[in-house]
Amino acid sequence: MILKAANRTNPAGVIPVSDLKVFKQGFTLIELLVVIAIIAILAGMLLPALSKAKMKARNIECLGNLRQLTLAWIMYVDDSRGNIPAASDPRQAVPPALLPPVVPAWVRGHMNFDPNNRSNWDVTVDLHNSLIWPYLGSAEVFKCPGDKSGVRVNGIWRPRVRTVAMNWHCGEWGRKQTLDYWGYRVYQNMADFVEPGPSGTFLFIDVREDSIDLGNFLVYMNGYPNNPENTRFVDYPASYHANSGSLSFADGHAEIKHWQHKDTVIPIKPGEILVDGPTVTVNNPDVIWLQERTSRRVMDIPSPDW
Ligand SMILES: [Zn+2]
Repeated sequence: MILKAANRTNPAGVIPVSDLKVFKQGFTLIELLVVIAIIAILAGMLLPALSKAKMKARNIECLGNLRQLTLAWIMYVDDSRGNIPAASDPRQAVPPALLPPVVPAWVRGHMNFDPNNRSNWDVTVDLHNSLIWPYLGSAEVFKCPGDKSGVRVNGIWRPRVRTVAMNWHCGEWGRKQTLDYWGYRVYQNMADFVEPGPSGTFLFIDVREDSIDLGNFLVYMNGYPNNPENTRFVDYPASYHANSGSLSFADGHAEIKHWQHKDTVIPIKPGEILVDGPTVTVNNPDVIWLQERTSRRVMDIPSPDW
């Protein structure tokens, strides 16, 4: 009798495995899908906010860089009895101009994608020798954080060092010429910023990696203000901030400008340089916006159809 009972319940008195309720481990497929869907919805809500925040931080950094450069320029000008440095050095143009400049350029160097050209990647070559360098603490302010271009030097990737250029009408080639360029005013001294005035005249601008070369940014003024069908690009502004770019003004403030026309934001082909010459972009509101902030027609002299 005792043996029989022991056989029915098993020797240790343990309940047979087949009688046990099996507890589920982990999730069912449906539960897993629901969790994944919820994560996807949350990510979908958070990621745009995150990338927006990242973009905002980058905008602030870029504007801060331009403001520091402009403040340094203002201090330099203050120490130079109001005389402003030239936007560029003619000896570095291609082909180089014959006349040496009378007024020195704010920064030298001709940027391109040649690794043998140290101006591209070595901050000590041009940036540390910039006229406004004594008023700056860092070479990083010469560059928009959105520019990821670089050159490979002996197998090592070197980021390029400058995205910023100066309004060409600020001292142009340093020639101190008596005739204003094509009838549009060239500024030589702070006192020359009469119209549209220091707060309405751009000084520094972010330039595209495939358009930056010398220290100047030439806005094609020919046709302004009466012939908008003649709008053209020579140098192209950067659009690293969601089709927007940064500029600073002669009074020290900086702005982000959202570009409107498709010709202003043509895609970049890394390592390729855009044609450096007047490219027709008829009735381009971005060119007109820049013209309004570049200079004014002060002399009725014929302009070459360059
Ligand atoms: Zn920027």
